[in-house]
Amino acid sequence: MLVSATEMLNKARAGKYAVGQFNINNLEWTKAVLSTAQENKSPVILGVSEGAGKYMTGFKTVAAMVKAMLEEMKITVPVALHLDHGTYEGCYKCIEAGFSSIMFDGSHFPIEENVAKTTELVKVCHEKGMSIEAEVGSIGGEEDGVVGMGEIADPQECKKIADLGVDFLAAGIGNIHGKYPANWKGLDFNALAEIKALIGDLPLVLHGGTGIPADMIQKAISLGVAKINVNTECQLYFQEATRKYIEEGKDLQGKGFDPRKLLLPGTEAIKVIVKEKMELFGSINKA
Ligand SMILES: [Zn+2]
Repeated sequence: MLVSATEMLNKARAGKYAVGQFNINNLEWTKAVLSTAQENKSPVILGVSEGAGKYMTGFKTVAAMVKAMLEEMKITVPVALHLDHGTYEGCYKCIEAGFSSIMFDGSHFPIEENVAKTTELVKVCHEKGMSIEAEVGSIGGEEDGVVGMGEIADPQECKKIADLGVDFLAAGIGNIHGKYPANWKGLDFNALAEIKALIGDLPLVLHGGTGIPADMIQKAISLGVAKINVNTECQLYFQEATRKYIEEGKDLQGKGFDPRKLLLPGTEAIKVIVKEKMELFGSINKA
């Protein structure tokens, strides 16, 4: 069932595990993530970037597909459909399209404007029973063409945004999107503890979950991270399996050109990595 992410993340924070947000790109991606969540009795968040929304012809298409899949696939675990790094306009489009959760990324606005827009969106979302995530400090790496610097969020600014009533908060603690460079310094746990001390029980979100070592993930969860975003890793698994299929010439054998066969190894590979992440985050059998 499609639900807001608030309850699943509050439960995760209290139970010291995290729920994965897996970004979706098409039908295969969505099917792979949903079936893995159902098989492992895990709550799950489907993330949709503005770029992926556009690719799938619009947020209405995405919402209609996901809702229909939940019914046709008889999915009973809690599923949230969440806009990832939403613009102000994108947030309203997703609210209208029937998403159950949004992230408003106002991190590039001056703080006063971020506060004003976040306050307004919190009110609209809560009236509709939706959850809302906000971001403080730019998270590094490249994200739909926007390159961030990998800052450490200012704890006072986190407190200010948390107090606006958002349901969970993404704070930069040295995490970045995409592949991590060889000279990456790791997560800043002192910053995380400082933020946590100021915001109390509010679940924290870790973006850029691809390539963060398992022990750092577990430490972050113990310090209040309850949602971890995974995107690049699924793409790499999909790419590798698809490449193998073609390099082995399987697309040239029999009906190997059938798109349902061609896309199957990649889809199965996504299931493998999603399950691995659910194990690492501790969300299996928590639905
Ligand atoms: Zn992100």
